[in-house]
Amino acid sequence: MEISIAAVCGLCLLFCVGGFLASYIYFRRKIVDFTDEVCESAQEILRQSQGLRKGSRETALQESQGYARRRQLKNQDTLTSKAVMELDKLERILSRQAAQNQSEKEEVQKVVSEISHQLKTPVSNIRMYQDMLDDEEVTEEEKKRFEKIIRQQLDKLEFLVESLIHSSRLEQEMIHLTLVEKPIFQTLAKAVGGIVAAAEKKKIELRVDCPKSLQVVHDVKWTAEAVENILDNAVKYTQEKGEVSLLVKEGEMYTKIQIEDTGKGIAPEHYNDIFKRFYREKTSGQEEGLGLGLYLARRIISLQGGYIMVESKLGKGSRFEILLPNKREER
Ligand code: ADP
Repeated sequence: MEISIAAVCGLCLLFCVGGFLASYIYFRRKIVDFTDEVCESAQEILRQSQGLRKGSRETALQESQGYARRRQLKNQDTLTSKAVMELDKLERILSRQAAQNQSEKEEVQKVVSEISHQLKTPVSNIRMYQDMLDDEEVTEEEKKRFEKIIRQQLDKLEFLVESLIHSSRLEQEMIHLTLVEKPIFQTLAKAVGGIVAAAEKKKIELRVDCPKSLQVVHDVKWTAEAVENILDNAVKYTQEKGEVSLLVKEGEMYTKIQIEDTGKGIAPEHYNDIFKRFYREKTSGQEEGLGLGLYLARRIISLQGGYIMVESKLGKGSRFEILLPNKREER
């Protein structure tokens, strides 16, 4: 039997086209199945995270079914199982972020209510004493006393508003360090300058002992900010006629800046807490503050490769030690 070349070519072509079509249909089906399964899993994850927020029983049942289905899929060694695993990872990251956002939101709410509370007291005091001043029967002596109280309350208000502006600026301004080798004495003089008036007002004895020539690689502006925060606390939490000292010692690997006071002290169980953002001890209620000073101080020092340590005795005083490495690289 004679088979012409044209017929053979035709058959081959038909075979190729048929094969191509069959593979096309097969792979298309696979891709469609894959896409369907991935989409279904994504929808389940979405339903689950919405359900978690709503917390209904019906959604809880759907969630557990979804979990079971996804677990089944993940156990198979297919492309779908890999995609589902990645989606699951994404879902875990997103829910962790959502939880974090929620706790930050709660923290901000707590701070806002704390600040509003702190602002409310001087405002209502000013109003009350102003009303009393307007009373025609008030004596000259009383007038003077009320005016003095109003001035004190205005100072309190001013302090709170300034602290708020200052700390929000610090928070917004990302801490960019410029490390330079400079005498640490100058930086500390800047920090001390910020608290001298407050110390004098409370008749607190202030002692500074720092070698003038000691060169330390550090960021001048931010280190002064950190030290001032700690000095400010030392003055704030020390009673009248107490003592605050600032001592600098050069070690082999670190330069130590020690700030000591004879104030109210900190309970050992709160050594860690005091460095947390917005943390304030209950006993600090009567002193103005936002609970940001030590948080920022620790951030500034650790960005320079250093540490802050605290040791204290309740009712006797506290000692903060800043350790700045003598050799370090810019971070
Ligand atoms: P703030 O002083 O604004 O409350 P900080 O972050 O500076 O915030 O300090 C956090 C808390 O640590 C203070 O509320 C206070 O209870 C405690 N604290 C800090 N320094 C001292 C200190 N020298 N003596 C006693 N308590 C302190």
